Amino acid sequence: MLDLFSIFSKGGIVLWCFQSTSEIFNPSVNALIRNVILQERSGNNTFSHKALNLQYKLDNEFELVFVVAYQRILQLSYVDKFLNDVHLEFRDKYKNELQGGRYIMDFDFKTSFDNVLKQCEQWAKSQAKLPKQMRTFEDSQKSKKTVASMIERKGDEKNKKTVKIVETKVVPNGKVEESPEADDDVIAANRAKMAQKLAAKNKKEIKKSPKSPKPSSTERVKKPRVWELGGGSRDLPSLEYTTDKDAARGDEVQPSEYKELLGTMTGAIRDLEVESDDSSSEEEEEEQQASPKKSGGMFSIFKGLVGSKALSEESMRPVLDKLRDHLISKNVAADIANKLCDSVAVKLEGKVLGTFDSVARTVKATLTEALVQILSPKRRVDILRDCLHAKQQAKPYVMAFCGVNGVGKSTNLAKICFWLSENKLSVLIAACDTFRAGAVEQLRTHVRRLDAMHPGMVHLYEKGYGKDAAGIAMEAIKYAADANIDVVLIDTAGRMQDNEPLMRALAKLIKVNEPDLVLFVGEALVGNEAVDQLVKFNQALADHSSTSNPHVIDGIVLTKFDTIDDKVGAAISMTYITGQPIVFVGTGQTYTDLKALNANAVVHALMK
Ligand code: GDP
Repeated sequence: MLDLFSIFSKGGIVLWCFQSTSEIFNPSVNALIRNVILQERSGNNTFSHKALNLQYKLDNEFELVFVVAYQRILQLSYVDKFLNDVHLEFRDKYKNELQGGRYIMDFDFKTSFDNVLKQCEQWAKSQAKLPKQMRTFEDSQKSKKTVASMIERKGDEKNKKTVKIVETKVVPNGKVEESPEADDDVIAANRAKMAQKLAAKNKKEIKKSPKSPKPSSTERVKKPRVWELGGGSRDLPSLEYTTDKDAARGDEVQPSEYKELLGTMTGAIRDLEVESDDSSSEEEEEEQQASPKKSGGMFSIFKGLVGSKALSEESMRPVLDKLRDHLISKNVAADIANKLCDSVAVKLEGKVLGTFDSVARTVKATLTEALVQILSPKRRVDILRDCLHAKQQAKPYVMAFCGVNGVGKSTNLAKICFWLSENKLSVLIAACDTFRAGAVEQLRTHVRRLDAMHPGMVHLYEKGYGKDAAGIAMEAIKYAADANIDVVLIDTAGRMQDNEPLMRALAKLIKVNEPDLVLFVGEALVGNEAVDQLVKFNQALADHSSTSNPHVIDGIVLTKFDTIDDKVGAAISMTYITGQPIVFVGTGQTYTDLKALNANAVVHALMK
């Protein structure tokens, strides 16, 4: 299916290349380099040349370009993911060589490449199977609407808004019934005629209702963005078992309540999503660009700054100041917002703008690109793959969770446990929070519920309170190895980042048990505070480990993302400061409220 995959340095040395046909691809790749990459038009990573589609990814750290080419007529849904995965795999595999700048060697990458391709093709197939198909008319709500049902729902807020949209119903004899709300008789009659025509044409189903009256200008205002959070599980009982009383409540709720969750978390964690109703924003901006007087958005005051001169620090400063304030208002730590804006200034200074490029637009696009880059993982974190790998080697995969009190360690550990058991991995939770009263009971409640959903898959290792956490973790790992349990999740006590004895104890736990993954759990709610916690946890792990190569934080679990609206800045601050990826995002209080970070969605919300 793929015609070409090439990895080359920005200096022009080809590191590795795969070609499935004998066609000469040089002209197309050269055109891509000349027309897109060298001209900093890298916002869109797709380029068409003759019959080929070329997609590329830049690695600015190692100065590499990854290019894939395939026939334009093909619709390959996995190319973005594939490019990304090959990029991460290549970096992972050859990081030592790349760091040393040793390009003159034979990169033996074909087997890894084939594996990644196979995985992506399977992923594309599984995505295609997800129930995204368009509903038939019989399945839709409209087919169930009757005149009576519409009268009953008259008080409904939602219906009030759409009251002018005529609802029609095809009755079994093919006639069309029309809503009594259609206040304009003539229009209604015409619509009925049209619907009858449609019904006669296609008796099986009607895909759309007849054209609704043009909404008034007040109705056409841009709708606010809505974060899609918990995957429809809002009504389920929450995971709040933080006190003894709550833990006891666990006994009253039947596991059958959770039945509908089963099977919803198989495979990789789903991406965080943003509803696409604001996809017009780009066009709107273009429109505003064309007629600045109309606009009212935050960039409107800069719309006049159009020219073909080289960009100077001075000309960019007002835009950068405004952008910095905007980032801070979205909870990006002030220091980081400053650094980001400064680096954009350095990157753009001296760049010559095209006649129709504005300073504001160029600066904003460059910042957006930089933000996506910051949030994109620098290495592949594939927990399911690593768990299976450990399983093949007959040892448990160990993850330790750390963070301050109340950020959601236990709750999100339980969600991760649910996800793992959905993927047929058995889990042992090690109750190493031996300080907080109720911590063990909280985990016990989770384990009872999780085990009820996946019998025999979830276990708890507990030794009560006041004991040495590092010792309990060690016993738990040994127990898991003996009992052939696939994964160990270590819940540690919450601790303030400045509490030296407790940080020392955490460093000891990590040093003696050598978990495969150390995850820092932080709240999305806090801006500068989360950065301070993360920096100090990382530093303490390094300082107290007394080894030359200390195991510090490998990744971040960002919790309570559902409570922050579009103030998503903590995600940027945390990844910027550590360079470590956000591995999970907690989006609510049920077992399925766990997502993977989608860099584009977050940056989109941030730049809104
Ligand atoms: P710990 O002390 O770090 O173990 O924190 P807990 O797991 O006990 O969680 C503290 C509170 O945060 C509980 O009320 C949880 O239900 C809540 N919580 C955890 N994660 C999330 C999340 O992603 N969204 C929301 N809204 N609440 C959460």
